[in-house]
Amino acid sequence: MKKHNFSAGPSILPQEVFKKASEAILDFNGMGLSLLEISHRSKEFVAVMDEARAIVKRLMNLGDDYEVLYLQGGASLQFLMTPMNLLTENGKAAYTDTGTWAAGAIKEAKKVGNIDVVGSSKEDNYSYIPKDYKVGADYDYFHCTSNNTIYGTQMKSFPEVDTLMVCDMSSDIFSRQLDFSKFDLIYAGAQKNMGPAGAVLVVVKKDILGKTGRNLPSYLDLGLHIAKESMLNTPPVFPVYVSYLTLKHLEENGGIAAAEAKNEAKAKLLYDEIDNNPLFEGYAAKEDRSLMNVSFKLTDESKKEAFDAAWKAAGISGLNGHRNLGGYRASIYNAMPIESVQVLVDVMKNLA
Ligand SMILES: *Cc1c(COP(=O)(O)O)cnc(C)c1O
Repeated sequence: MKKHNFSAGPSILPQEVFKKASEAILDFNGMGLSLLEISHRSKEFVAVMDEARAIVKRLMNLGDDYEVLYLQGGASLQFLMTPMNLLTENGKAAYTDTGTWAAGAIKEAKKVGNIDVVGSSKEDNYSYIPKDYKVGADYDYFHCTSNNTIYGTQMKSFPEVDTLMVCDMSSDIFSRQLDFSKFDLIYAGAQKNMGPAGAVLVVVKKDILGKTGRNLPSYLDLGLHIAKESMLNTPPVFPVYVSYLTLKHLEENGGIAAAEAKNEAKAKLLYDEIDNNPLFEGYAAKEDRSLMNVSFKLTDESKKEAFDAAWKAAGISGLNGHRNLGGYRASIYNAMPIESVQVLVDVMKNLA
């Protein structure tokens, strides 16, 4: 029986995508060859890469001033590539510290140059999103993390800054409508909301690159990846293809607007239960609650055994909280049906 998968990442994808992806492993588009055994330079795979790049711009409503790349090394390598590509030798960048991943981005960037943390909720174990800070033109760029996967907080609005705007959107990309043209660089590991592990999506405004005076190693140079149309070396063909299938599925089902409406309904269903059920309490500050990752805990630890047994018996998987936080975390990404959230809510109700 198919489980109700609340895993934080790698995570749920649409069932149709799993089916199409498995077919392509056996016979890709009737070629008599597997997707995994054809050249990445073949016209068939080049078409996949071209379409995988184009669909991102369509979904985000971005024009020709943006480029889309699928790279390796995950979001974690972008922690390093961002300062390498945007930070001038004597310049400085502004970061917000809103969770473990944001702190990871700061740590890597500090290896490259001067970084100021302009807003942080670290003292409160990242339970909210800091909001009152200013970022002036003396910074080369501002970096934020739109959704904090581990803590279940999400930026509901983005600050106006007088410099370039960079965002790690790994865990909420394509989940809600945003004015994506406000961002100069967006990156997202595929494995949270758009595909399998093994690829990271980079969306970048072309004209911000090549201005630092740094002599970059080839793989770390976003400009070179653009010049090579995301094929500087052998790209991760399977993650690119499956990400493409997921985005095509999204586009054919009403795009980001439709996904956002579903995500809001799912989140409301679960947060309402957390707020109304005396056995549970949420972790994140209410105004910053994530639509993607819902962190909560029991108010009475003596119910833990009963609750764990009940959700497992209901066919739920992946509900344990991150090791940094404990408790529970329900990740309700785009592909999660509301019926699965209802199964969890029913288990919580029954427990009470
Ligand atoms: C999971 C995650 C990462 C790390 O992604 P990798 O692709 O494993 O490097 C970075 N940022 C956020 C917000 C994440 O959720």
